[in-house]
Amino acid sequence: MIPVNQPLLNGHEKELLAQCIETGWISSDGPFVIEFERKFADYIGVKYGIAVCNGTAALETALFAAGVGKGDEVIMPSFTIISCALAAIRLGAVPVLVDCEPETWNMDVNQIESRLTSKTKAIMPVHIYGHPVNMDPVLAIAKKHNLVIVEDAAEVHGAEYKGQKCGSIGHVSAWSFYANKIITTGEGGMVLTSDPKMAERAASYRNLCFRPEKRFYHTELGYNFRMTNLQAAIGVAQMERIEEFVRIKRRLGEYYREGLSKIKGIKYQIEKPWAKMVYWMYCIELDNALGIDAETMMRELGKEGIGTRPFFLGLHEQPALHDLDLFKGESYPVTERIARQGLYLPSGMTLTERQIDEVVAAVNKIIG
Ligand SMILES: *Cc1c(COP(=O)(O)O)cnc(C)c1O
Repeated sequence: MIPVNQPLLNGHEKELLAQCIETGWISSDGPFVIEFERKFADYIGVKYGIAVCNGTAALETALFAAGVGKGDEVIMPSFTIISCALAAIRLGAVPVLVDCEPETWNMDVNQIESRLTSKTKAIMPVHIYGHPVNMDPVLAIAKKHNLVIVEDAAEVHGAEYKGQKCGSIGHVSAWSFYANKIITTGEGGMVLTSDPKMAERAASYRNLCFRPEKRFYHTELGYNFRMTNLQAAIGVAQMERIEEFVRIKRRLGEYYREGLSKIKGIKYQIEKPWAKMVYWMYCIELDNALGIDAETMMRELGKEGIGTRPFFLGLHEQPALHDLDLFKGESYPVTERIARQGLYLPSGMTLTERQIDEVVAAVNKIIG
């Protein structure tokens, strides 16, 4: 079986974890949390890192830090994970959608202005599958209308837009270190920002909104979203190799692309001239003309011992969100198409070129 993903944990992870056990620093009070925050913030090129327990919590914390609250509208892509909508909803805000564009599957930035209202407070670009969103138009709209930009950077550790790292372009960004992300802490997340006020708000929200001057006195409601020193120990070990991981991902992605380019009817993200993508997952879209959908392809690849995952189903097609009276009757055609025709292929850090050859041959055989 070729697994869809597999983390690489063969650096100093064990050694640093053992240190946590030996010293007793196993909760969120511990030196690795601060070290991990420092190292990751430095790598991305921002001033402050606030580690949290997962990427979903990071998104909510980032929106809180940005001042998003009751009644505010947040513009986000329809093609993303439910965490983005949840983050807004939990704060009493309203997610507002735009479709994605067919080449990178990222939010179609040309649709943003048509969704602005007097309640719009933030734009949430989600860098999808390792390819950056076209940020200049987003920055221009945000500036013109005085909006905050909250990047969902959970899939782009190390990716760049015009030479600048994703997650350092907007006002604040949210990260995930789930086991299949480019670096992992098992479960884990982080909020990054260079704005001291936002950093303070994020740190407060993560820690029950305790007040520095008066500990058990609360003027706002937060959560316990803290990351443990155990998770951060793994994170510190992973940071030693992040450049290497990005290189591996790019090499595998380019090798896939070369193999798949010979098969008609397969589409994949093409790196824009202004982008450095990191191929978080190697994704394909099956052209409708092939007469085969993603579900069938995944089933057939499964028979060949090849692990896959489906694409996101659009936020506007989620029954749980319809129940909240959101997105009823809305349609986003590109999202709807790729949700049915898209899948990701094995993309783990331990994948070999020989295995990629096998995957490409299997895809070819199933289509043929
Ligand atoms: C993984 C992911 C998240 C959520 O992160 P978790 O750590 O799983 O909560 C959010 N947004 C995107 C785009 C992701 O890929």
